[in-house]
Amino acid sequence: MRLRKPEWIRVKMQGGTVSNKVNSLISDLSLNTVCNEANCPNRMECYERGTATFMILGRNCTRNCTFCNVTREMPDKVNPDEPENVAKAVAKLGLRHAVITSVTRDDLEDQGANQFARVVEEIRKTTPKVTVELLIPDMQGNKELIDIILDSEPNILNHNVETVPELYDEVRPMAIFERSIELLDYVKRTRPEMKTKSGMMLGLGETKEQVIDVFKRLREVDCDMLTLGQYLQPTTAHIPVVEYITPEQFDEYKEIALSMGFKRVASSPLVRSSYYAEDF
Ligand code: SF4
Ligand code: SF4
Repeated sequence: MRLRKPEWIRVKMQGGTVSNKVNSLISDLSLNTVCNEANCPNRMECYERGTATFMILGRNCTRNCTFCNVTREMPDKVNPDEPENVAKAVAKLGLRHAVITSVTRDDLEDQGANQFARVVEEIRKTTPKVTVELLIPDMQGNKELIDIILDSEPNILNHNVETVPELYDEVRPMAIFERSIELLDYVKRTRPEMKTKSGMMLGLGETKEQVIDVFKRLREVDCDMLTLGQYLQPTTAHIPVVEYITPEQFDEYKEIALSMGFKRVASSPLVRSSYYAEDF
């Protein structure tokens, strides 16, 4: 049975001139945003503020996470102009902080690592003051590929654990919780100055103890920042919502996480990895 959305989750979806401008710029430059692909509930608000999260390396993912709205057809050809186009869009939108993510490209020899690095390079050339946050896939734990990305020196390295390890088989069947923790650990051990960030969706049936255990694991690898938001089922074909977490519960998680040493925590129903990332 589908749970009824509570009051605090209903979002006013309204278009506007600014959001039309963002959409047409993105399509003119043949770019994709995670905002559109993930059907993000904050789109109108973020677009009105001139914020968007770019999704590079095509629209088709080689993984099969059961919560995710991206398509899983043939992976796209890597567009050599994409890094320059992302940099152009960042400049035209006047962003202070750019968030770049991608689908997972297990099919590519470098899993897309070089494209991430080139995007950072192009943004630095065009808009050196813009801070860059990369939200990367797990690169199958390949350290050489992770190094290619880290050598481009993003300001923030974000990698989401998404949920508690107990639910991985159901929610992220092709990912491994420990591999994600190891990735964040590797970043901190080899680049202690780089900020690390991770995030989870809640409401998939996890218990409070399991959530706090994940906080502990993330703090053990010195993860700096954390985002917590409510999972929303994109379509009926996706894994259902088990529970709507109340805003008060989100506040409590925030307090707990801060007391465990995270430097920044964004925790509320509509928080997404990149929601207000520029102020984070
Ligand atoms: Fe895009 Fe992130 Fe805003 Fe969602 S929260 S609309 S993904 S920038
Ligand atoms: Fe979606 Fe990322 Fe999972 Fe691919 S790896 S299905 S983009 S969440």
